[in-house]
Amino acid sequence: MSELRFDGKVAVVTGSGHGLGRAHALLLAERGAAVVVNDLGGALDGSGASAGPAAEVVELITKNGGKAVANADNVATPEGAEAIVQAAVDTFGRLDVVVNNAGILRDKSLGKMSVEEFDSVLAVHVRGSFLVSRAAFPHMKEQAYGRIVNTSSPAGLFGNFGQANYSTAKMGLVGLTKTLGIEGARANIKANAIAPIAWTRMTEALLPAEFEAKFTVDAISPLVAFLAHESCETSGEVFSVGGGRVARVFVAEGPGWRTDDLTMESIRDNWDTIMTEQPYLQPTTLGQQASASMQAML
Ligand code: NAD
Repeated sequence: MSELRFDGKVAVVTGSGHGLGRAHALLLAERGAAVVVNDLGGALDGSGASAGPAAEVVELITKNGGKAVANADNVATPEGAEAIVQAAVDTFGRLDVVVNNAGILRDKSLGKMSVEEFDSVLAVHVRGSFLVSRAAFPHMKEQAYGRIVNTSSPAGLFGNFGQANYSTAKMGLVGLTKTLGIEGARANIKANAIAPIAWTRMTEALLPAEFEAKFTVDAISPLVAFLAHESCETSGEVFSVGGGRVARVFVAEGPGWRTDDLTMESIRDNWDTIMTEQPYLQPTTLGQQASASMQAML
């Protein structure tokens, strides 16, 4: 079995001073990529900053014979995102892979969540992924090659108590991923997202203790690296990953029910049919979804 490698390729991994991002950066570097290890180095809630975590990961990569440069810019500001991408171009001459991984938590139930707690979480996850991808896109387009991996979450796909901000952000990343996949297609830029579950400082207080041994960060990074590799032809998809299992997550709609006389009452009377899942339709474009509504009129 031939090994998948990244020799000659350059990757940015945001938030790679700790946890999942650190594991992604180590694996990409081990497989030959030159890596920009970006991390603001703050606390789990995003407060504070330190250049230490990114520098430590770079030290480890270089000690192991790999190539890396540290960057402590903030993904959530346009200047920070531009500087992260520029670090790749200035240090290694190109940029092939972006892993948008940086994230923070500010959990509160809806009634107690402040506007600042909502906005700050969206800023890091959604605005950060948008800004870093936007900064990387021209470089990828010019070389007609790029791979972007975004980090969604089961909390976004399925909801989670106390995470109105975080789950909104993480489902937002699904939309961003699908649109990046569409906009990148002509330039061979593939974008996909992962919805991971792993034991990190972000989840250690939430997951049962037995998860620590089995739900490791090393059981996530191989999927990220595969999605970041040139041999991956898939784009616009979301994958659930954790503890060694990988599964495709997809958005589907049921066969539906149609009438020329849609009223509140006819909806009530046909609710079971409306709720039916099979045979489901799985549109991969907006157009396919619209044509399903057109077909139902025939
Ligand atoms: P983590 O806290 O260990 O890592 C997140 C990293 O992002 C930290 O090193 C932090 O300093 C960095 N960061 C935060 N804000 C930043 C900013 N503005 N700019 C640059 N860096 C910043 O947590 P983790 O579990 O490794 O999380 C990594 C990603 O995976 C996050 O997006 C998280 O939401 C997502 N995720 C994790 C899990 C899980 O089970 N651990 C589940 C679903 C999603």
